[in-house]
Amino acid sequence: MPELPLTLYRAAWVLPVCADPIRNGAVLVGTDGRIAAVGPALAIEPPEGCVIEELGEAAILPGLVNVHAHPELAMFRGALEDLCFRDWILRLVGAKRAALTEADFEAAARWTMVEALRSGITTLAATESSGASARALCEAGLRGVVYQEVFGPDPAVCGEMMDGLRANVECLRAWECDRVRIGVSPHAPYTVSDALFTATAEYAIAEGLPMAVHAAESAIEHQLVQAGEGDFAPGLRARGIDTPPRGRTTVEMLDRLGVLRARPLLIHCVLLDADDIRRVRDTGSAVAHCPVANARLGHGLAPYPELIAGNVRVGLGTDSVGSNNRLDLLEEARIASILHRARLADCGVLGPAELLRLCTLDGARALGMEDTVGTLEPEKDADLCVVSLAAPHVRPVHDPVAAVFHAARGCDVVLTAVQGRVLYRDGLLATLDPAALEPVMDDAARRLREAMT
Ligand SMILES: [Zn+2]
Repeated sequence: MPELPLTLYRAAWVLPVCADPIRNGAVLVGTDGRIAAVGPALAIEPPEGCVIEELGEAAILPGLVNVHAHPELAMFRGALEDLCFRDWILRLVGAKRAALTEADFEAAARWTMVEALRSGITTLAATESSGASARALCEAGLRGVVYQEVFGPDPAVCGEMMDGLRANVECLRAWECDRVRIGVSPHAPYTVSDALFTATAEYAIAEGLPMAVHAAESAIEHQLVQAGEGDFAPGLRARGIDTPPRGRTTVEMLDRLGVLRARPLLIHCVLLDADDIRRVRDTGSAVAHCPVANARLGHGLAPYPELIAGNVRVGLGTDSVGSNNRLDLLEEARIASILHRARLADCGVLGPAELLRLCTLDGARALGMEDTVGTLEPEKDADLCVVSLAAPHVRPVHDPVAAVFHAARGCDVVLTAVQGRVLYRDGLLATLDPAALEPVMDDAARRLREAMT
C-alpha cells in the first residue's frame, strides 16, 4: 500500500466508542493507515507536514460493520416483494440460475460496495455462492469476510459438494489479504444435509476458516428441523430426499452435528429458546441480527436483549437487498431499537450508545476483528465513517450519538476511509465507478424480470 499523508481530521464530534463522545475532537491518522491519536482538537498539536481536514458539523466514528449481506444479489432489490418465505427463496434461486451470469454477480458485488462506501460501511461480511465479493472488496479497498456458500440437502451428494467447496475456497484465497478473509457457509437447514453440515464444519476447523450459517430464521425451517414437516418438506421429498426430524431446534441440531464447534456466525436466530442461547454462548458462536429483513419477510424479531444478557457476541446485518431493500446500517440500527422497544414495551432498550457499539465494536467482535477495528483508539486501523450533522433533518444536535442513530441516515455520510485511505468523500468514490456498472445492472434486472414472469 502506498504511504498515506499524515492527516489530522477535526470535527464537531468524535465518537470513539471506547470512550465518551469528544466535543470539538480530532483523530490523527498515521502514514501507516493506523490511528495515531484521538482526543480534543486543542490537545492534539498537528505534527509538521500534517494535512489538516476540517470536517465541521460532523461526527467521526469508527467505520460501520455490516455482518451480513449478499452483495451478488443487488439486482434483486424490489424484485421479490410481499412473497411468503418459501416462494421468496424459490423465486430467488430459480431466477438466479435462469437469468444471471458470473459477470452479473461481479457487477452486483461492486454495486454493493458502492452502496457500502456511500453509507459509511467499512467492513462487510458477504455470504454468497459466486464469491464475487472477494474481488469487489479488494478492488473497493474495503474490509470484509466472504463466506463461500455450499448447498446440498441430499446426503448422497455431500462428497461432491465438499469437493466443489474446497475448489472454490482455494480459488477465492487468491484475494485474501490483511483486509479480506475467505470463509465457508453451509447455507441453511433446508438446503444442507446433516452430513454436509458436519463435513463443512470439520473442514472449517481444520483449515481455520470462519464460518456462517443461516439458522433459526423461519417457522417453516423450524417445522422441517423439528418434525420433518412444513412447507419445505414436500419439495425435498419430491426430490427423493428424506425429511426425518433432525433436532428439537435448529441450534440444537447444529450443536449435535458439530457445527457449533466451528464457532460460526449464526445468521438471524429469530427462533431461539433459553437452551439455544446457552448453547450459542457456551460454544463461543456469534449472531448476525438482521431485524429489517426478518420483519419484512414476516419471520419475527430475534431476541437481541436476551442474547446480550446471555453474553453472546451479536453484530448487526442488513441481509440482502432482496429482503431488506436497503443497505443502510444507521437505519437498521434505528429500526432495531424501535422494534425491540415495541416488543418489550421498554424505552430503555437499545439506546444510542448501544446502537453505536452494535454497529462498530460489537460487529467487529462478531467477526473476530475487534483487535483491528471497531473503536477509535491508537494502534487500531483508521477505518472511519464521518456523518454530517448539518442537514435540517438532523439539526439541532442535543446529543451527537442520538443525532447519528435516530436522525441521520446513510446518505448523511460524507467520508468513508479504510486503513486511512479515503475511499468516499462528498459524493465521489476513489476506487469504483458506478456509471460503468449501471448498464450491466440494468441488463441483469431486465433478464431477471423476464425470468420471473
Ligand atoms: Zn442471508
